Amino acid sequence: MNDHIQHQRSGRPSTRPRRGPNRAVVVLAATAVALTAAIALVACTGVAPTITRGITALAERPPGASGDGTPTTSDGAFGADDGVLDENRYSAYDTDLPAIANLDADLLEAVQQATDAAAADDITLFVSSGWRSTAYQQHLLDEAILQYGSEAAARQYVATPDGSSHTRGAAVDIGATDADYWLIEHGADYGLCQTYANEIWHFELATVPGGECPELLPDAG
Ligand SMILES: [Zn+2]
Repeated sequence: MNDHIQHQRSGRPSTRPRRGPNRAVVVLAATAVALTAAIALVACTGVAPTITRGITALAERPPGASGDGTPTTSDGAFGADDGVLDENRYSAYDTDLPAIANLDADLLEAVQQATDAAAADDITLFVSSGWRSTAYQQHLLDEAILQYGSEAAARQYVATPDGSSHTRGAAVDIGATDADYWLIEHGADYGLCQTYANEIWHFELATVPGGECPELLPDAG
């Protein structure tokens, strides 16, 4: 036994060099897997969803307020009365919430119709943002300026209170991602269109039911 091992160690000097390349292959393969995962992660998250997560992180529920089904949304000093909504929690039928109730009536009806049609396809349409107060919209812009480092960069993702269709009740942000893709495909049946190329979740009433959606704008800026 020992002789055999000795023989292998002494008699086959090529064993060590052979292990070298094998180990390198393993390391290379692991590196490739890691790189692929990193690239996939970047491709999946992109820059725009970062701000969605940032806003979501701010929309914390007050302690002890969860679980009873009542609106508990808040974003620092801002709450449901300013149009704050928890992401992927409410539908277009939650009309007791200002974010939903203050939507343009035609937009609200269109989103409700789309919600019913999507449900038939086993897709749940959540309204993650709708009407927002001007103060809340300004707060979102201020947060984005902190995050992106300049107002010019921030405005690619968050409009000013004057420029935002959300403060006019003329826009909804829809989640989750499967619902976004469903609505991109079927929204025009209800007059609903994605309007910004960098926001797959932002929809406005931008055509007649069954019509054609206008060309996408590059961003909210
Ligand atoms: Zn939006």
